[in-house]
Amino acid sequence: MASVVAIVGRANVGKSTIFNRIVGERISIVEDVAGVTRDRIYATATWLTKEFRLIDTGGIELKDASFVTQIKIQAEIAIEEADLIVFVVNGREGVTQEDEYVARLLQKTKKPILLAVNKIDDNAFINEIYDFYSLGMGDPIPVSGSHGIGIGDLLDEIIKNL
Ligand code: GDP
Ligand code: MG
Repeated sequence: MASVVAIVGRANVGKSTIFNRIVGERISIVEDVAGVTRDRIYATATWLTKEFRLIDTGGIELKDASFVTQIKIQAEIAIEEADLIVFVVNGREGVTQEDEYVARLLQKTKKPILLAVNKIDDNAFINEIYDFYSLGMGDPIPVSGSHGIGIGDLLDEIIKNL
């Protein structure tokens, strides 16, 4: 059985964009507006001959559910089904209370967690990643889902930890 990697994080941080970038196709729907209903999304990805299943837990969206309900379900599925979790945050907004809540949910698992700081579209934003050490998730990995920057480094870390 292929290993499973789950992407988790609050709305609009770029989970689906990163998912599509890793999979190499626009499977997951990228939304400009937070909170729209989407389908649960699975796909198979390959990096350096290693194959794994990827889940965009943001696609598991319950209609009218609060942030807390929504993220609890997403984190639960990630913790139960995944071998590794990619926790995505928005490097342009700094650490939010919602990010801290997600971090607390994820701290319950002993599974490896990678912290991807998205929207670092160019080096001018690189210093924004240091704020995220406070989440206690190890070294933040700067990425730009929409520009494809840092995705190779993230994938290297993923397969190293699978
Ligand atoms: P999700 O809700 O976490 O799945 O986020 P989406 O992937 O739907 O993206 C939310 C918004 O952020 C969309 O408008 C994306 O185009 C934008 N976005 C995603 N990745 C990046 C990025 O690396 N840089 C910038 N500037 N915008 C991004
Ligand atoms: Mg999404």
